[in-house]
Amino acid sequence: ANKAIVIGSGIAGLATAARLASKGYQVQVFEASAQPGGKLGLIGDERYRFDSGPSLFTLPQLIDQLIHDCGREPRDYFNYYQKDTACHYFWPDGTFIKAYADKEAFAEEVQSRLQVPAQKLLSYLKRSAFIYRYTEKVFLRRSLHRFKSYLHRDTLASIIRMPRLGLGGSLHRYNHKMLQHPKLVQLFDRFATYNGSDPFQTPGVMSSIPHLEHNIGTFYPKGGMHQIARSIYQLALDLGVEFHFNTKVERILSKNAKAYAVQVGNEIHEADVIISNMDVVPTYRYLMPQEKAPEKTLQQERSSSALIFYWGIKKEFPQLDLHNIFFSADYEQEFKAIFQEQTIGDDPTIYLNISSKEGEGDAPEGCENWFILINAPGNTGQDWDALIPKVRRQVLDKLSASLNVDIESLIEYEDYLDPRRIESRTSSYQGSLYGAGSNDTFSAFLRHPNFSRYLQGLYFCGGSVHPGGGIPLCLMGAEITANLIEEDYAN
Ligand code: FAD
Repeated sequence: ANKAIVIGSGIAGLATAARLASKGYQVQVFEASAQPGGKLGLIGDERYRFDSGPSLFTLPQLIDQLIHDCGREPRDYFNYYQKDTACHYFWPDGTFIKAYADKEAFAEEVQSRLQVPAQKLLSYLKRSAFIYRYTEKVFLRRSLHRFKSYLHRDTLASIIRMPRLGLGGSLHRYNHKMLQHPKLVQLFDRFATYNGSDPFQTPGVMSSIPHLEHNIGTFYPKGGMHQIARSIYQLALDLGVEFHFNTKVERILSKNAKAYAVQVGNEIHEADVIISNMDVVPTYRYLMPQEKAPEKTLQQERSSSALIFYWGIKKEFPQLDLHNIFFSADYEQEFKAIFQEQTIGDDPTIYLNISSKEGEGDAPEGCENWFILINAPGNTGQDWDALIPKVRRQVLDKLSASLNVDIESLIEYEDYLDPRRIESRTSSYQGSLYGAGSNDTFSAFLRHPNFSRYLQGLYFCGGSVHPGGGIPLCLMGAEITANLIEEDYAN
């Protein structure tokens, strides 16, 4: 069989490795850290378990499809269930909205809490579905870089703007036009953060994102989010993939414009194809500084990063659910701070995830595991040691006021992740969560391709390349990459 080497075992690296193994490749994965999963990591102690990265799980059928495509039975590897409630939303003035998974119930809740006719929300979601299906077909499911006609900027722009649907401006502008009520607009503006972008800049076409959560649904993986990575790792092992942990690739070696090996310490490992699951920026900068690089693509603005606090809390809060949002009073200012001032403002929106609500023993009896995420700019050398305690104080004050209890005195386990740690632990350039940003229409859809334009035999997968970051897009990308390799090496 042909030999393949995958650099990195993030979700896309794992999925690409499994797919190639099932196509008959002899696959080796080199992973710098001690565990598979990359950003889908674990934090905690014997009492509190935390998923360190992703907490929201949509499109689980992509994992079923992956396992099925590899000739195995999905339920032998992975299980999940659908959530009845998507999210609990809290505003500073005491307004509360429970976003039911069932869209009719959600629309009725919005009608009774905000006096917005239910029909308004239902037609918004109907349009989301239409826009999602369209973008999925045209942009997400194939290597659009191999379809030259799409590359013309004007063609691309006219497709994305879909003038008939009024998608010419920003997501915020579109939401304002469709929904009017400031709280409902803020609720739907938040979906920009699902790809690390700014609702006041990212194009209106991103109004397709709520389709995943409110038309298809949100899910919970049995055993927690890290189990997603563990399941695909097990699948890859069963298909014969060989893993080398604590093994950092230092160079991609090439000869006559063909990538032929990776260097690890003093060892050279040769392969017919090499796939980098490492962020594309450090892949060019550190693994092959001698090669030509697509400078314009590498300079695309990055998606946002995050500051995450992991708190073991010795109390239960029945008013909270798996996903909770405590909105800021001024959303525009919040994003201006992140994307223009490169800092975190004084009143950040708080995302609070509590996986112990799922009753799988992630916290001791009577306690909860709080994962608190604040959107943050990428690491460009800010004084994080000063910023982190300041934000921590703001979060404690805001949650204590909102929940009517002193939160700090309830914390009995604590850890954190910041843009620096995300960058150093997963080699994600600037610690961005989703690779290149989506504020600009072109960078949203014209990310780095899944193959190298300069070196034969070199491919890419993961959040920093086409079609983008987040678990679903990483899985779609892995399929595109594995199929490209199969096509390129057929016969
Ligand atoms: P990564 O997870 O980035 O992993 C890359 C791997 O490559 C790492 O294991 C790294 O150690 C390894 N590596 C790098 N360089 C080398 C080298 N030279 N040699 C060997 N190995 C190397 N997505 C969602 O869908 N839902 C969410 O709710 C969500 N929330 C998030 C919250 C946080 C805090 C974070 C950090 C991310 C979140 N995301 C979410 C985004 C999601 O986690 C990522 O888009 C996705 O996991 C990226 O996967 P990847 O395949 O690109 O690889």
